Amino acid sequence: MKLIKTVNQMQKVATLAKKAGHKISFVPTMGALHEGHISLVRKAKKLGDITIVSIFVNPTQFGPNEDLSKYPSTFDGDKRKLKEIDVDYLFAPNIDMIYPKGYETYITVEKLSLTLEGEFRPVHFRGVTTVVTKLFNIIQPDIAVFGQKDFQQAVIIKKMVADINYPVKIVVTPIVREKSGLAMSSRNRYFNVEQRERACVLYKSLIQAKKMIADGERSASKIRQSMQRLISETSGTKLEYIAITDNIELMPIRKIQGKFTISLAVWLDEVRLIDNISITLKDKL
Ligand code: AMP
Repeated sequence: MKLIKTVNQMQKVATLAKKAGHKISFVPTMGALHEGHISLVRKAKKLGDITIVSIFVNPTQFGPNEDLSKYPSTFDGDKRKLKEIDVDYLFAPNIDMIYPKGYETYITVEKLSLTLEGEFRPVHFRGVTTVVTKLFNIIQPDIAVFGQKDFQQAVIIKKMVADINYPVKIVVTPIVREKSGLAMSSRNRYFNVEQRERACVLYKSLIQAKKMIADGERSASKIRQSMQRLISETSGTKLEYIAITDNIELMPIRKIQGKFTISLAVWLDEVRLIDNISITLKDKL
């Protein structure tokens, strides 16, 4: 695996690979890699000829009161993990390389960025779509792999590439969970064993919702209420939202039917967690 730190060099490597007819598959990450990230990389390796992973903790997607300064960094371990699974290139630019002094151009998917996560993290998706566009321009991927863990992010990226006619295929892979059901996340590193146990309540609430639907409940508000009740029974939790929406426009649905996603954000002590489950009603629940 080759480590690349400059935009110029990454662009050169990508251009040569494209000229040689190689299919580039790309996985953007913010590092602190875990099995969830690795599952994306495995998928990318299957789909392309050359696999490029980026590690860049993107400052523009963090709000002023968010955890940018304490975002976990485990660069040497990350590098080892990526080398072990035989990634071709690791692109790890520094902040000035991506946002030089005087930087002022942003890409926004307007409506979809305002809802769900966007309501609580107003600048988040503008930062995500801007950095992903920049990374796409540098890396020129044929395929880019994202995780269902960040459901809204995946929906927004798909919309963005459609809207701006970007020639890349967006692939979304399932959420990787701990045995306990807790969705893997770089932020789980902040937790001790006891907190991890409490953090499982997000998944438990999703499973409870799924069971209610399987048992015939069709009222979205009743499902949300019962999830809310379960979450409030766990100490240290503060619910931000539970939403049941369609998978394209992210509009809330009232009656459970068709394809939809239940997503939620919960603070557990000082850490903000998100999780979701996508359901198609004709699925056997
Ligand atoms: P991050 O480093 O948190 O920006 O995540 C990079 C990519 O990994 C995003 O596309 C995430 O959705 C994905 N990802 C993070 N956690 C998981 C997980 N538990 N399962 C699957 N994908 C994940």
